[in-house]
Amino acid sequence: MYQPAASFKERWRFDVNDPASVAAERAAILSETARIESARRAIDAEAILLEARAYNFGYLLDLADGHPEMGMHVRSISAEISFEVQAKHSLVIRQLAGSWNAVREFPAAVDAVADGRISGHHLDAIVSSGLLISHEVEAEQASLRARYVESALDQVSGQILTEAALRRITARIAEELTQIPLAERRRKTRMKGFVSVTDAGDGHGVLHVGGSLLLLTAVRDRVRKQATRVLRARAKAEKAAAAAGEAPESEPDERTLGEVSADLVCDQLLTSDPTSTTAANGVQATVNLVIPATTLLADQREPGHPPALLDGFSPVPIDEAKRMAATAPMFTRILTHPVTGTVLAVDTYTPTAAMRRFLAARDVHCRFPGCRLPARACQIDHTQEWQHGGKTCLGNLEHLCVFHHVMRHATPWSIDQLEGGVLEWKTPGGTVLADRPERQGVRFVPTAEINAQSEAASTADPSSATAVPPELHTERDPSNDPPPF
Ligand SMILES: [Zn+2]
Repeated sequence: MYQPAASFKERWRFDVNDPASVAAERAAILSETARIESARRAIDAEAILLEARAYNFGYLLDLADGHPEMGMHVRSISAEISFEVQAKHSLVIRQLAGSWNAVREFPAAVDAVADGRISGHHLDAIVSSGLLISHEVEAEQASLRARYVESALDQVSGQILTEAALRRITARIAEELTQIPLAERRRKTRMKGFVSVTDAGDGHGVLHVGGSLLLLTAVRDRVRKQATRVLRARAKAEKAAAAAGEAPESEPDERTLGEVSADLVCDQLLTSDPTSTTAANGVQATVNLVIPATTLLADQREPGHPPALLDGFSPVPIDEAKRMAATAPMFTRILTHPVTGTVLAVDTYTPTAAMRRFLAARDVHCRFPGCRLPARACQIDHTQEWQHGGKTCLGNLEHLCVFHHVMRHATPWSIDQLEGGVLEWKTPGGTVLADRPERQGVRFVPTAEINAQSEAASTADPSSATAVPPELHTERDPSNDPPPF
């Protein structure tokens, strides 16, 4: 049973010089590990059943609506669950769908979690490989999958298998049992590519590219070979310089193979034109950079200054931000409330774009609680629906990503917009949650990027191009403003 963490020093005392005392402490640790793991597996099994039940709930409602393929009610119940567990909405949907698959397709494996034979991680491996097993006759497929679970469970019993090790085994078993060979599956899933970036902290990021394993392996191989050549050329140049008695360069290149590889990927993607289609030629990269004025003016060695922000949330080093922002043609100043930090006004001179600038600056991202999809990828939604008399004004508009925009209108969610852009969401279950705009300091955003956003927004929602509040009109020409740096 759990005991207060603060009392650990008394409870975990043992005599390091007494072998019996050492052995007793070790035995206690291991028996507690076994007890907790067994309890965890039982709870995991209960959670899997509950998640499957939640998916079933949404699925049956979707079926009753006549649109099971839209999955709006699955989306809606997942959102309500995501508030309870404070997890990303898309992650909860995947979790419910995974548990639904497990319970419906591999019930014997779920039972094995409940009685402690396998862990929840083992189950993940069994389900993800097992879903590959298919047969055109439904009954035949069910019996193949049951046989598969039996041999997968056989593998786990009596040996130590991590999730990754089990996954390799189950993938092989599934491949042997399935009627659709790998080559055919590969053709069907050909289009499921993606490119995304995650924030790795401290101004670092990771680029993820999904696609053909073969092609991506070739990409990695080519980049490594190029990087190796760069390093060799560098060593050669250094050697020649040393032999000639020249002084080394003021800043020697000390990048590792991995760092040179990463730089090469960026260089080539940002500067070369693609050959597969002419439509993508000459497309320049744009980033949305937010630089708080206080950060800009302050001495960066002093702590306590807000960082520069990429897309409104990922902190990046101020020097890098300045360098990147220096190439953007102009900046628009966004004034914020000194205490609450919400956006008050945007210096502007194009009335129709002003509202969108304001909303993009106020919202920063999708306003569904917990969603962080950047505003530039979102749609502008009428809080109170337009066809029900909702006005096209700042106090009745907010950014929603397509995913949450569609769900909001297809299922019984409601939104009220309060003062200062605060949104009051009401779930189908009746829970009320307030979503506040991001707190921001005074910040600068490249004008070109904002204009691009405005154009994108105007094609997405032309009805929002009216009724600009007077406080957004400024007589002053912003180009007379001193540059931010
Ligand atoms: Zn969203």
